[in-house]
Amino acid sequence: MSLKGVITMAVSLLGVLALAAAASLITLTTYLHRTTESMGEAVEGVRLAEALQVDLLSLARLPVSSQQPSADNGRSLASTQAAVQLHLSEARRNARTEQERALLDEVERSISDFFLAREGLENQPTEEVSRVMGPRMESALSVLDRLVEFNVQEARAARAQADRWDGIADVIGIGVASLLVLGGAGLLLWMRRFVFRPLLDISQAMRRFGSGRKRTRAPEEGPAELREMAHTFNEMANSLSRQQDQQLTFLAGVAHDLRNPLSALKMSAALVTSGRPVTEERMRKTMALVRRQVARLDRMVGDLLDATRIEAGRFELSLEERDARELATEVVELYQAGGSSHDLRLLLPEEPVLLSCDSTRVEQVLHNLVSNALKYSPGGSVVEVRVERAGDEALLSVVDRGIGISAEEMRHLFAPFRRTGRARETAPGVGLGLSVTRRIVEAHGGRIEVDSRPGKGSTFRVRLPLSRAAAHPPEARPGESAAGPADSVH
Ligand code: ADP
Repeated sequence: MSLKGVITMAVSLLGVLALAAAASLITLTTYLHRTTESMGEAVEGVRLAEALQVDLLSLARLPVSSQQPSADNGRSLASTQAAVQLHLSEARRNARTEQERALLDEVERSISDFFLAREGLENQPTEEVSRVMGPRMESALSVLDRLVEFNVQEARAARAQADRWDGIADVIGIGVASLLVLGGAGLLLWMRRFVFRPLLDISQAMRRFGSGRKRTRAPEEGPAELREMAHTFNEMANSLSRQQDQQLTFLAGVAHDLRNPLSALKMSAALVTSGRPVTEERMRKTMALVRRQVARLDRMVGDLLDATRIEAGRFELSLEERDARELATEVVELYQAGGSSHDLRLLLPEEPVLLSCDSTRVEQVLHNLVSNALKYSPGGSVVEVRVERAGDEALLSVVDRGIGISAEEMRHLFAPFRRTGRARETAPGVGLGLSVTRRIVEAHGGRIEVDSRPGKGSTFRVRLPLSRAAAHPPEARPGESAAGPADSVH
């Protein structure tokens, strides 16, 4: 599983949990609000019922007789009646259930019964008033008691409901908190086991590798990203180790190759300075040997410098227009003058093959290819250098009939310091010439190809773009034909 996947899942679960907690909180507060509302209504119902009881009791204390009406008494009766009406209508507005409304109807009936009876008792003796009004008052007060009791029950029910919601809120709160704690702890444990430990392993492997233990590799385990990181580090470590091995091989090769020409030079110098008489013929041969060894050393140092420049990205070309035929001729003549034992042949077209190139570098390419062809083929065999024009390209080929290269070896032929097994046995070398050659050809916008068969020989082909003028010549004048692919080869 990937780290991103786990974190996304954990965050989504957390989000769902938070949403669920928020939804339950909203529902709970809504229900609690409703419960407190009904509790408030029940309390208000109790208050109104008791106010009505007080109204009735104060009414009972007022004199029924109007024989000696007093202004105060008249106002008290009217205001008490108004208060009764007001409390009754408030109680009706406050009533929420059918049962409460039925009780209120009963209250209203008994109060109006009380009023009617009271009106009919004008100028009656007190005993008669008490006899008639007493039971009516009792009945009205008892209905009001029932109303009070009903509202008290309602308030109790609302409180019980509030207690239930409170319990539910506790359960949800504790549940969500426990889930969060458990989830967080689980995530931490998972991260510790599958993220921090592999990370520590990778950093430890890096530290060990940095302190020189080149065989150290990071374990590729844990989430995909860390496996990928460890894999990348391991690949980098492998590549660095390979490079180090190559550098060691290279140093050994350089030391070995420097030794041969140096010992030849040492021996020649010893001969010249020995004081013994040396024939002219011997001297001439010794000087030719010195020249060859110096040229070889020069080429080796040149290749090394070029390889360093290429690696450092400081490889520049100074372009000029040159005929590829001239460049090939110069290189071949140099080898022919050097007394090569091979049958070195040069095949050129009649028409110029113009290149916009760094002539020294193109000559270096030809030098490398020709010297390899001579090095890796038996003395006396034919080595051909051909220049042709192929469409918009110049084709420079070097063909030998030497040891050849196997298909497997051909895959790494242009990598620095690579040498084939048979080449090592045949001739000294560092394995830099072809890699430098390919970089020079590619810097000119060209490419290099090889055809080879072990034991039969090799053909190296360099394709370079023709100069702009040669690739797109001005309109040919009547009677003349532009240089074309039909160039003949001598
Ligand atoms: P060097 O010749 O100094 O070893 P190069 O980079 O020029 O280095 O060549 C790399 C390798 O390619 C050689 O060691 C040899 O194995 C192989 N090679 C190059 N040219 C030829 C050739 N003409 N015939 C056979 N093998 C060749």
